[in-house]
Amino acid sequence: MFDRAVESRAPELLLDDRWRRLQALVRETLGSNPFWTSRWRAAGLMRADDLADWDDFRRLPLLRKSDLVNDQATHPPFGSNLTYPPERYVRVHQTSGTSGQPIRWLETQASWDWWARCWGFVLAAAGVAPGDRVYFPFSFGLFVGFWAGFEGARALGALAIPGGGQDSVTRLHAMQALGATALVCTPSYALHLVETARERRLDPTKLGVRVTVHAGEPGAGIPAVRARIEAGWGARAFDHAGMTEVGAYGYECAEQAGLHVNESEFIAEVLDPETLTPAPEGELVLTNLGRPGSPVVRYRTGDRVRLTETPCACGRTFRRLEGGILGRLDDMLIIRGVNVFPSAIEGIVRRFPAIDEFQIEVFRNGELEEARVLIEARDADGRAVCRGVQEALRASLGLRLEVVAAAPRTLPRFELKARRVVRRDRLT
Ligand SMILES: [Zn+2]
Repeated sequence: MFDRAVESRAPELLLDDRWRRLQALVRETLGSNPFWTSRWRAAGLMRADDLADWDDFRRLPLLRKSDLVNDQATHPPFGSNLTYPPERYVRVHQTSGTSGQPIRWLETQASWDWWARCWGFVLAAAGVAPGDRVYFPFSFGLFVGFWAGFEGARALGALAIPGGGQDSVTRLHAMQALGATALVCTPSYALHLVETARERRLDPTKLGVRVTVHAGEPGAGIPAVRARIEAGWGARAFDHAGMTEVGAYGYECAEQAGLHVNESEFIAEVLDPETLTPAPEGELVLTNLGRPGSPVVRYRTGDRVRLTETPCACGRTFRRLEGGILGRLDDMLIIRGVNVFPSAIEGIVRRFPAIDEFQIEVFRNGELEEARVLIEARDADGRAVCRGVQEALRASLGLRLEVVAAAPRTLPRFELKARRVVRRDRLT
């Protein structure tokens, strides 16, 4: 089920729509939003009418995360990216804070409704519909995470079930008691729930969950991770991409051929991270059009993507990010001169069903970055599994890495964004 009027609109009409909405956004913010007014005036954009075409747009300054962090440090507690007086805002959230200081974000009623609408695209494309019961095993705190997904499920007409303030076992029982048919969480947590269920002799495939939707990590876009989640839950797993700073922008359709970018609500650019010129593969730069109270324009997401214009068999005209998010640019490791994303290592480790959890230890060896992989293998000869992983890493990535077995249940489990890369001064 999808909204054909929007999602299969001709690309040139979508482009016209985005242009009109961009102009409206600049008119709304230039002069009233202190953050954007000072940035744009410094760049020579004095009046909204000065923005004449897409070339002008591409001359606007790029926004970095550090710009937002610095702005909030200078203008606490919410920063100066506010178009309206504070009393117009009805919700406050923040980023997860996995990479540094969290950034706070205020929402108006209209922008919160917009979030829900964007999540509606995500859930509907995964086949979630009225009548579904969608379970959110998420601590509903300040981190925006799945709050908006919860709103999206409700707005779609599904039953939204909060799973905050509970441990994993209680959550599994709640899913069973309430008849959950869909699960929305990080890929790591979906796997952790399967592991917990198995220890309690519960079978997640018997719970009646037919769809799982995942965000927060590249996981569900990695074939081996997706296969594992699908086998564990007896469900179809869908990938989704969103950010606190930007909104819920990317989602998979039933074809599962990459992430469609919601091009009715976002402007997507892909730039070479070195030259900052357009490139087919590079850093994803996003502008959101439905959050005028605190927008981002040309935001450098730090995600590496490959954008394709090839039409999707599903009939949507929104362009796709092939292979989803390929990795975080600031997570990229350079091991003896080889560039490798942790997600590529995960894609190999997850092919081994005996491995429950893993961790990548990174340390410096003289001038070079070196890494080793720790694995927790269950019911198996740990040494044989280590050898298998080592061989697969060498064959697929051309990387010779040490792979070591860790004792069962010693590596951390994650509810939110997993942090599987740890930096160590030296190996113990
Ligand atoms: Zn599609």
